[in-house]
Amino acid sequence: MTQLIVVSAPSGAGKTTLCNRLLSDFPQLTLSISSTTRAPRGQEQDGREYFFLAKDDFEERIRSDRFAEWALVHGNYYGTSKEVIESAFAEGRSVLFDIDVQGAAILRKTYGKDCFLVFISPPSVEALEARLRKRATDNEETIQRRLKNARAEMARTGEFDLVIINDDLERAYLELKSAVSQRLPGSNGC
Ligand code: 5GP
Repeated sequence: MTQLIVVSAPSGAGKTTLCNRLLSDFPQLTLSISSTTRAPRGQEQDGREYFFLAKDDFEERIRSDRFAEWALVHGNYYGTSKEVIESAFAEGRSVLFDIDVQGAAILRKTYGKDCFLVFISPPSVEALEARLRKRATDNEETIQRRLKNARAEMARTGEFDLVIINDDLERAYLELKSAVSQRLPGSNGC
């Protein structure tokens, strides 16, 4: 049976690493590739990390109801196409979503108990700030915007089935892996 595993986290909380490890440990899980209007970063490729769309194109798809959920995140549109979810249900595949808390709440509303919502939290806003500064990819304005968003997202953890504090990546991953293995058909429930 199809399970929708949704992982949300403020940026800098370690979500991408945790999601990549899930994908390699659970071959029955496929990543939902979102669409976005933000520009590709670094080595990102269209159709691999995201479908990169022009703003007009994205807005046209909103009007024609092609997204299961969409949100404005850090000033850009991001969305999950209905097609991704519908084909997963048709094929009985489970899907991993790396989306923000707004998107997680909408998927929960639409797909109810087929969704498992996990929030990865930094130990504190101060710890997140230290991590963002250490990775040194963002300017001061971006760091401040990410911290503001993080506070707002961390205030909504009550909407999630599981909150994992990422104070230690290895421990956090084991907690995530154990929870996901209990949800996925064909896992040994380790
Ligand atoms: P980034 O630009 O760093 O790849 O992603 C920024 C934020 O947008 C992350 O929190 C990510 O989880 C979120 N995001 C990515 N795809 C989607 C999506 O399809 N829907 C929603 N609601 N958020 C998304």
